[in-house]
Amino acid sequence: MCKEGGGKGWFQEELGWEIGCGDKAKFWEDVWIGSVDLKSLFPRLYSLSLNQGKTVGEMGVWDGTEWRWDLRWRRGRFEWESPLERDLITILSGASLREDAQDTQVWGKEVPGLFSVSFAYDCLAKYDRGNQGEVYKLLWRATAFPNVLVTAWRVLMGRLPTRVSLSRRGVVVNLMMCPLCQLQVETYHHLFIECKYAQKVWSLCFQWVDISFVQQHDLKLHFQSFHLFHVSNKQNRIWKGIWANVIRCLWDQRNMIAFQQGVVDAEEVFQRVQLKSWLWMKHKARSFSYAFVDWVLNPNICIRSC
Ligand SMILES: [Zn+2]
Repeated sequence: MCKEGGGKGWFQEELGWEIGCGDKAKFWEDVWIGSVDLKSLFPRLYSLSLNQGKTVGEMGVWDGTEWRWDLRWRRGRFEWESPLERDLITILSGASLREDAQDTQVWGKEVPGLFSVSFAYDCLAKYDRGNQGEVYKLLWRATAFPNVLVTAWRVLMGRLPTRVSLSRRGVVVNLMMCPLCQLQVETYHHLFIECKYAQKVWSLCFQWVDISFVQQHDLKLHFQSFHLFHVSNKQNRIWKGIWANVIRCLWDQRNMIAFQQGVVDAEEVFQRVQLKSWLWMKHKARSFSYAFVDWVLNPNICIRSC
């Protein structure tokens, strides 16, 4: 359970699959339809699935030339879970498996003809149960890889398995201290704002674009006030995307230290933030023609050009 988010490197996590006969891509865990894995989109259904870890091809059968899904569950769904299943089936109806081809890996792209990050947002927001607000809209419009936005969204919703949140849910957790600094218990606030390593990453961000920033103690306020006053709202989506990337890279670093050991390196986390944000802009915005070195040396010029 604690391994959620850990284990895979970030580069691998941007890998998706173009589906053939479904021989390699994992149905729940990999990105093979749309831009987010189904496990992140439907955590409740995933927890009920008897098919965790199975490939796409193991989740159905060919009936002549037609593919039929065969989803299996631990129990019947409660009434409020049926719309979730309907959404899943709608998504699956857009999949086209091919018996004669193998799955192939693709990187950093939305698989064509499928749903987009805004569809993912609609799906996730629908089940927020009244928690939707301006802050989530701002987040989902930010410029970052969809799975980065999903992680940031889960942080703002308080849905990542930090040690303190696991303990509150009744999970026996032997270690409560922050894996990065080992000085304080691992709350959201500590891990993403207060920890000396998080502070270092944030301050590198502000130095990079040459602004000063008053750190907020609430994560939502922190996100909202992460704003550049000298650029447009559209350009601020890039800056908000950098916020999401910091959260994601801190979480990756935390998982690496917690599960695979290693040494915390705030500079490396920050460089990864720069790289991930640049890669997504290169991929998304055709007009963005700056080299990585330009992005590192002159972020303000690059942002203003978008
Ligand atoms: Zn810490």
